[in-house]
This record gives sequence, structure tokens and C-alpha cells, in this order.
Amino acid sequence: MATIFCIANQKGGVGKTTTTVNLAAGLARLDQKVLLVDLDPQGNATMGSGIQKSELETSVYQVLLGLDNIESACMRSSTGNYDLLPSNRDLAGAEVEMVDIDRREIRLKEALDAISDRYDYILIDCPPALSLLTLNAFCSANGVIIPMQCEYYALEGLSDLVNTIKQVHANMNRNLKIIGLLRVMFDKRATLSQHVSEQLEKHFGDRVFKTVIPRNIRLAEAPSYGLPGIDFDPSSRGAQAYLSFAEEMLGWLKDRN
Ligand code: ADP
Ligand code: MG
Repeated sequence: MATIFCIANQKGGVGKTTTTVNLAAGLARLDQKVLLVDLDPQGNATMGSGIQKSELETSVYQVLLGLDNIESACMRSSTGNYDLLPSNRDLAGAEVEMVDIDRREIRLKEALDAISDRYDYILIDCPPALSLLTLNAFCSANGVIIPMQCEYYALEGLSDLVNTIKQVHANMNRNLKIIGLLRVMFDKRATLSQHVSEQLEKHFGDRVFKTVIPRNIRLAEAPSYGLPGIDFDPSSRGAQAYLSFAEEMLGWLKDRN
């Protein structure tokens, strides 16, 4: 059975998709079998994996609504080393359409259960909201990875996210836990970044990942080439940091088993 992580933060533009795509590519480089689930109607992880979201015949939307099976919706990423369950704007309607559906918060879990034994890791890129889609991710996952920018408003909203995760743990998915906070787009020369980073370490201790992802233009350029930063420019500082993060994740898992 795969270990399932979701990458979540209800704020937009905090590095969820960049983290998901690069962790998928990083784990793949470390010989792990990975499925990336794009659960955001914006389809950025789909495009960032080199797949045209406007040309999809079927996607995670059809899977959630039971219109198609997960096997036919999954495809290979452009670099060919991980699988993708893609998404596009069809998914924007899913929230409303799922209201009348039975067991609507575990639709994704039930779909993933059918293919989970084919992978070592399944990574779910969440939309920027604590919505039914994100709830589906939380009900499927073993753990949550929270990317954060170390800026003034970073901690705002974090308690809502932590409380939601606690509630899901208590009522719906006993397996769910916060794996850790990942500091991203980090500018080590900025005093404020250092300060917020120290605050995070103080409050969350070893649940702050040791790896810090720097702000790096190559990571931002990569999606327009349909590639994870790790494959676009493997020697860049951003790619190296995400590869270290993939190694840190594997180490974390070894310690648990
Ligand atoms: P989210 O999925 O949370 O909305 P994204 O991963 O799409 O966030 O990141 C938001 C923007 O910041 C994107 O344009 C992305 O390319 C850019 N970005 C993300 N991480 C970095 C980084 N470490 N350095 C520079 N740009 C980054
Ligand atoms: Mg995103």
C-alpha cells in the first residue's frame, strides 16, 4: 500500500504545487513509484507535469463523480517517471455536484484504494481552500505537508488548518497527522524570514522540516516548460533543495517503519 501525503495550505501562492511536483519528481529520482493527484481545478500540477489540461479526455473530476474509473484517468507525466491523475476546470463544479452524492468526503479515498498497491507514494496537490475537495484529500491521506512562506502573515490561518486536520483525525481518518511544515521561497538575507522561521521552530519543533527551499527563479520558470524544477535545471539551488527534501521525507519514513 502506498503512503499518501497531501500538500495543503488554504492560502494560494504559497508553493503547494511547486512542492508537490518537485517532491514527485524527487522521489521518482530516488527510485520510488509515485502518483501525483492534482486536486486543484486550476490544474497547475497537471500543466507543470507537462500535460495539457484543456485536452484531457477524463480527469480526477470524472473519478470523483463516479463517471469514469481511476485507471483510465491516470497518465504518465511528460518526463515519464511518475504518474498523474490530472485535473482541469471541470473540477470547479465538483463541490456543488457532490453535495447530493453519498459518502462524498471519501470519494477520492475509495478511488485511490483500488490502485494504491501499485505505488510507494501518492501525493495530493490541494486547492487553496478548506473545501470538500481538501476534505477528500485529508480523508485519503496518512499525513499532511504544509508549505509556508516565512513572512508576516504566515502564521495567520495556520490554526484553522491545524484545527481542521485535528477534527478530521478525530472523526474521519485516524491515520491523518501533520508530517511537517516546509519553509519555501525562503530568503535567508531577510531578517523577517529568519525571525518567522525561528518562531516556527519554537512552536512546532521537529515538525518543521530541516530542509529549507530557497526562492529560486529556476523553480518559477520550470512550469512554463511543462517540467518539474528538478528536471528542468537539476543543478539549480531550488532543484537541489527539493531533492534534499525528497531524501528527508524518505528518511522520515524509514524512521517510522
Ligand atoms: P500554490 O500551489 O500554493 O498556489 P505555487 O506552487 O503555484 O503555489 O507557487 C506560487 C508561485 O510562486 C508560482 O508562480 C511558482 O512558480 C512560484 N514559486 C514557488 N516556489 C518558488 C520558489 N522556491 N522560488 C521562486 N518561485 C517560486
Ligand atoms: Mg497550486
